[in-house]
Parts: sequence; C-alpha cells; structure tokens
Amino acid sequence: MNPDSKIRYIDFHTHRQCADNDTLAIMNLTAGEDVPADFPENTLFSAGIHPWQLTGDNHEQLQTEFILTSAHPHVVLIGEAGFDHTRGVQGELQYRVFIFQASIAAEMHKPVVIHCVRGWDELLRAYREIKPDRPWIIHGFRGSSSLAASLDDQGFWFSLGREGISAEILKAVSHDRILLETDDSGRSIAEVYRHYAMTAECSEDEAAGLIRKNFNTLFNFRL
Ligand SMILES: [Zn+2]
Repeated sequence: MNPDSKIRYIDFHTHRQCADNDTLAIMNLTAGEDVPADFPENTLFSAGIHPWQLTGDNHEQLQTEFILTSAHPHVVLIGEAGFDHTRGVQGELQYRVFIFQASIAAEMHKPVVIHCVRGWDELLRAYREIKPDRPWIIHGFRGSSSLAASLDDQGFWFSLGREGISAEILKAVSHDRILLETDDSGRSIAEVYRHYAMTAECSEDEAAGLIRKNFNTLFNFRL
C-alpha cells in the first residue's frame, strides 16, 4: 500500500465520469462507446457487451466494437457482461456472446465484471467452461445471503452498491473479496463506504483500508 496515495475511495463500477481527486473510478463502457479522448486522471475503464444491448442481429458488430475498445491500455476489466432473464435477447445467443467476452478476458488475463439477473445457472455453466485464472466480480448483487455464500464458496468476488449491503450479505461473503460501487445510482461513493462501515461495524478508515487492499490484490496494484 502506498502511504502517499491521495486515493481514499474506489468506485469499482460506475457509468459516470468522476473528477474527485480522492476517488479512483472504473467507468463502464458498453460496446460502441470509446475511451474518451479526455478523461480525469484517476479513471480506469471496463469494456463489455451488456446483455441489454443484444437484439439478435447486432452481435457481430458489437463484438467488433468490443474488441477495439478492450485493447485500450486503460481498460483493466472486461464487462459488464453476463446474463439477464428480464431484458435483451435470451437463450443461447446471450450465452455465446458472454463466452466470447470471457474467453478474450482469459486470454488477456483480465478480471470480468458480471451483470446477472436470474441467470445464475448460465453464469456457473460459463464459469466451469472458461475456468478463469482471474476473478469474476458480480456487481450490484441483490440476491439472498445463501446464494451469496454459495457464489463466494466458488470463488466469485462481489462489488456491492448501497442497496446490496446488509448484515446478512456481509456475513455470507469473504471480506477480502468485496468492492464497492455507485453504478448508475447517482449516489456518492463516500455514502456507499459510510453505509458499508456502519453495517460491518467498523470505522470508515478501516473500510477504506479494506477496499483498497482488495483492489490492490485484484489488480496487483500498489495504490
Ligand atoms: Zn452498471
């Protein structure tokens, strides 16, 4: 850990640009969006094809766009990508487009940020198929604590937003595999950290130290 770092908060998954100099943000780009020419200093990116983007006849174009964006040196994560039973094209195409991205992530040795709504069977099938050597992080998790415990047992990480943080969930998952996020909530990341600290019954400094340590472990950084 670098004691000189001015970074206090890490917003692991957001759709907004963040210019606060105490925050490092991973801004999500969906296929077709480029890394902006001008972006704040403490910004990294994730790039992926969101399951909501798939219509059934656009996957080849999205895959080409995804490959172009994911090669950018500031893109440190693949995703958000995954499974959604409520929106976007369903079935085998959704699965194959995820496998396409997860295979590229595996080749590049990059972690994957997962969007999953009711698609847990497919996610586990994909996990067994790819056998990734880098973590898959489930973002915006809102399921039960027993589901969280079972995913945790299988090695998944979690990026939790304000609504996903509860005493039951924090008991179910490994604290060394948790990250925090604002997603598209419009909240401040400081508020998410405060809620985490209150729920985990630790100080805000301890929360900041833990999340920073987890982030450094994930990327082998020394922030
Ligand atoms: Zn998102």
